[in-house]
Amino acid sequence: MANILDVKINDFMAKVIAKNPGETEFHQAVKEVVESLLPFIEENPKYRHAKILERITEPERVIMFRVPWLDDKGEIQVNRGFRIEMNSAIGPYKGGLRFHPTVNLGILKFLAFEQVFKNSLTTLPMGGGKGGSDFDPKAKSDNEVMRFCQSFMTELSRHIGQDTDVPAGDIGVGGREIGYMFGQYKRIRNEFTGVLTGKGLEWGGSLIRPEATGYGAVYFAEEMLKTKNESMKGKIATVSGSGNVAQYTVEKLLQLGAKPVTLSDSEGFIYDPDGIDTEKLQYVMHLKNIKRGRIKEYADKYKVKYVEGQRPWSVKCDLAFPSATQNEINEDDARELVKNGCKVVSEGANMPSTPEAVEVFLSEKILYGPGKAANAGGVATSGLEMTQNSMRLPWSREEVDSKLHQIMINIHATCVKYGTDSSGYINYVNGANIGGFIKVADAMIAQGLV
Ligand code: NDP
Repeated sequence: MANILDVKINDFMAKVIAKNPGETEFHQAVKEVVESLLPFIEENPKYRHAKILERITEPERVIMFRVPWLDDKGEIQVNRGFRIEMNSAIGPYKGGLRFHPTVNLGILKFLAFEQVFKNSLTTLPMGGGKGGSDFDPKAKSDNEVMRFCQSFMTELSRHIGQDTDVPAGDIGVGGREIGYMFGQYKRIRNEFTGVLTGKGLEWGGSLIRPEATGYGAVYFAEEMLKTKNESMKGKIATVSGSGNVAQYTVEKLLQLGAKPVTLSDSEGFIYDPDGIDTEKLQYVMHLKNIKRGRIKEYADKYKVKYVEGQRPWSVKCDLAFPSATQNEINEDDARELVKNGCKVVSEGANMPSTPEAVEVFLSEKILYGPGKAANAGGVATSGLEMTQNSMRLPWSREEVDSKLHQIMINIHATCVKYGTDSSGYINYVNGANIGGFIKVADAMIAQGLV
């Protein structure tokens, strides 16, 4: 049986690769899902007859556009903008915008594909999408970022809407960028609607949205630990990145009694064996969100170790929270983590572990929470923001946090339901893929050939 399945997976992947040449991250994301799903589909042939896998791997729509803007010297710059509208079977397209020089079609298609399953897992009515640009906000003035965002939204505004497609933030897109884009959308369309999430609190944003992805990744890790009758208290945690997800991962770890000891950015990582406490975290938030500086400055200020050009996976820990970018844990890193006693990996970032690294985690049977489950708290809270915008009513901090917490508990339960193997090991990869797939696939079948 295994061999026949392998042949089917390889045949399917050969077609995906031929159709989407050069999009390596997209191939990687599809392969992981197909490996989980094919055995399930063999047992449930209605999905095979309806060609759901073939349909779900083809975006409903891809929009690619020119973004011209003027820099502070008065020179014309040209970037490329994208929006991938992947799947709307269970709701309007929903997913973040990424501004980073590495952005390309394949990366955004991988992110949009993952988003379909993630959004379904939240149980909220959201389809999957993703977008962004190869624009690099680093070292740009606020005015340059504004002019870029306005030009980007001038085109994007034709394709989105509160009942059509509702973007949010991702790497390089935080409150500042969402603000500039929302302002431009409002100007062009003359309507004040919940067309973007991650908005400022005074103009339709939700409490807890900035915190949600990081908090959710920690709640998910807590649920994983509970399956072993363990808690966060006293556990040492490595965290990568130092942006939105990393910052609020550290905050929630502190609230639950764990000790975060690392942070990183694209240039290196810091290791603070005494722990990154609340005061140090405030410093990081100011450094990264206001001053827009480098993490190395933390090491200079607190006299701790800074390792240039590396990621923090060689540091001994009980819990690891990759919260920077895709493929930031390779096979060697995974082996190092396991060798050093790491028992839990909860992915705040999207697809931060390479397939070889995932293989190590699964074969060593550690508690491994893949991004599409562990970081779904961000989009779930975006879903709550959409509800508040429709009702034109804000909810309290406690109300949103408790809804987020319950959603993470439910996602965990879904993974346990669909991912527990005959030995009792919870394979969260299978659990998330199958659990996320069923609702979307059933909706696609019910809606006919869409
Ligand atoms: P931010 O832009 O706020 O922070 C990103 C962090 O990761 C920065 O520290 C950045 O360092 C680092 N980083 C980015 N690219 C690279 C790279 N190629 N190599 C090494 N480090 C890198 O983004 P977020 O915190 O929002 O996003 C982090 C991850 O979480 C992404 O994978 C994103 O898709 C995922 N995610 C985010 C959600 C959200 O709600 N924001 C929701 C779900 C997932 P530097 O400053 O040097 O670039």
